[in-house]
Amino acid sequence: MDSSKSLPVAVIGAGPVGLAAAAHLLERGMEPVIFEAGPTAAAAIGQWRHIRLFSPWRFNMDAAALRLLEASGWESPRPTALPYGGELIDRYLAPLAALPQIASRLQTGSRVVAVTRQGLDKTHVKDRDTTSFTVRVEHADGETRDHTVAAVIDASGTWSSRNPLGTSGLPAIGEDAAADRISTALPDVLGRDRASFAGRRVLVVGAGHSAANTLINLADLAKEEPDTVIMWAVRGASAAKVYGGGDLDGLPARGQLGGRLRRLVEAGKIELHTGFGISSIKALDSGVAVGAVDGRTLDTDVVVPCTGFRPDLDILRELRLNLDPAVEAPLELGPLIDPEFHSCGTVPPHGAKLLAHPDKDFYIVGMKSYGRAPTFLLATGYEQVRSVVAALAGDHEAADTVHLELPETGVCSSDAGTSCDVPAPAGMTTAAGAVPPSSSTAGGCCGTPEPVLVGYPTGLARGRAGIN
Ligand SMILES: Cc1cc2nc3c(=O)[nH]c(=O)nc-3n(C[C@H](O)[C@H](O)[C@H](O)COP(=O)(O)OP(=O)(O)OC[C@H]3O[C@@H](n4cnc5c(N)ncnc54)[C@H](O)[C@@H]3O)c2cc1C
Repeated sequence: MDSSKSLPVAVIGAGPVGLAAAAHLLERGMEPVIFEAGPTAAAAIGQWRHIRLFSPWRFNMDAAALRLLEASGWESPRPTALPYGGELIDRYLAPLAALPQIASRLQTGSRVVAVTRQGLDKTHVKDRDTTSFTVRVEHADGETRDHTVAAVIDASGTWSSRNPLGTSGLPAIGEDAAADRISTALPDVLGRDRASFAGRRVLVVGAGHSAANTLINLADLAKEEPDTVIMWAVRGASAAKVYGGGDLDGLPARGQLGGRLRRLVEAGKIELHTGFGISSIKALDSGVAVGAVDGRTLDTDVVVPCTGFRPDLDILRELRLNLDPAVEAPLELGPLIDPEFHSCGTVPPHGAKLLAHPDKDFYIVGMKSYGRAPTFLLATGYEQVRSVVAALAGDHEAADTVHLELPETGVCSSDAGTSCDVPAPAGMTTAAGAVPPSSSTAGGCCGTPEPVLVGYPTGLARGRAGIN
C-alpha cells in the first residue's frame, strides 16, 4: 500500500469481520473508514438474533478487537458458552462498534454501490497499482458520494443475496412475482415474525443449518398453534446429512439439532418431501403453489428459503478480480472450500497471499471470501484480516505467518453416511497458502485429496445452494 498518500483504508461492512479489520488497522496506526449499509453495526446478524451459534465465545471474538475492548473495561463473556446471534451483538459487536475509536470512523446507513480505481476503468493498466481507490457510497441522507481511499477490504458478507429457490441457480419461474409469499432466510417464527407463521401452512426449502433451526422452531410454534402445517422440501434423495452425527457429533449442539429434527420428521410433525427440485412458484388468491421439476406441487401460505447465499459481485465490477469459477471465492481459496468436494467444509488457515487479487491492495474477507461455500467460520475470518492488514502495512513476515487454532473436527455427514471424525493437529501453524497434500489427514470423509482438517463446518449442506 502506498502509505505516502496517507489516505484511509475503506472497510465495507461492520459485521464481526469488518469490525475486526478496523481494530487491526487501528492497532497498526492506520486509518479505517467503515461503511455499513444497515442502521447499526452487525445489521446482518441482527436478522438472526434468535439463532444460537454452535461455536463458543472464544472462537467468535477477534484478538485485536478484544485488546481494544479490554482497555475500555469491558467484561468478557464466558469463553465456553454458546451465544445467540443477539448476544454476539449485545455483548461483543455493539460495545466494540461503540468504542470511540471505532464509532468515530463508522458510517452507518452507508451502502457501498461500487469500487473502482480513481480515474481508471477496469481496462486501464497504467499506474493501476499506485492509483487510489474510489468507493461510491449511498448515504442515509439520500446523497451518493465518492470516497478516495488507499486500500479496500470488502467484508460485506453474503446475507443480502440469497440463492434462488429454483434449480439450476436461477429463480423458479414466478419466484420474483411471488416475493411477498417468501420470507427472509431465517425468520424468527417464535418471536418477531410469529404472526406470519402461526396457524399457517409453511414450506421450508433447503438442507442446511438454517432449515434445521427454522423447522425446529416451527415445530415449537405448532405446539401452541396446532393449525400450523410444516412442510420441508429438499432437493436430495434424503435428509440424512441434515440430521448430522447425532450423539456422536463432535459438536454437541449440532448433533442435538439434527437428532431433534429427525425425531420430528419420524413422528409426522414435519412433512418431508425429498427429491423436490423447485421449477415454478405461482401466487394464488390465498397462498402459493410450489411446483417441482417432476410435476409434484405443494400448496402453502409462506415459503422459507433456506437455500444459502452467494456473494454480491456487482459492486466490484470495475476491479480486476481472480475468482474461482465455481465457488466465487478468491482463486486459490476456491478449491480448498468447494462444497462439491469438501463436505467437511474445513480449510487450512490462510491470509493475504491466498486472498490477493490482480488489483493490488484490494481484499475480500469474511463470509464473502468463501463465495458460495457455506462453511465459513469467524475464527478463520479474524485470521484473514490480521494477515491482510499486516500486508497492507508492509509487514510481510506477519502477513505470511498464518496461525489458527480451532477445535477438533467433528462428525460430518455426507451422502454416503461416512464421517470425518479426525482430530486436527492442535494449534497448527503454517505459512500462508495451501497445506501441501502430503500433510493431509488420512481417512477424511471427503475423498482425496483432502486438506488438513482443522475446525468444523458452519453448514451441513454439501451443495453450493445448500439445498441438495
Ligand atoms: C445462522 C448462522 C449461524 C452461524 N453460526 C456460526 C457459528 O456458530 N460460528 C461461526 O464461526 N460462524 C457462524 N456463522 C457464519 C459466519 O461467521 C457469520 O455469517 C458472520 O456473520 C460472518 O461475518 P462477516 O463479518 O463476514 O459478515 P456479516 O456478518 O454478514 O456482516 C457484513 C456486514 O456488511 C454489511 N453490508 C452488506 N453489504 C454492504 C454494502 N454494499 N455496503 C456496506 N455494508 C454492507 C451488512 O449489513 C453487514 O452488517 C453463522 C452464520 C449464520 C447465517
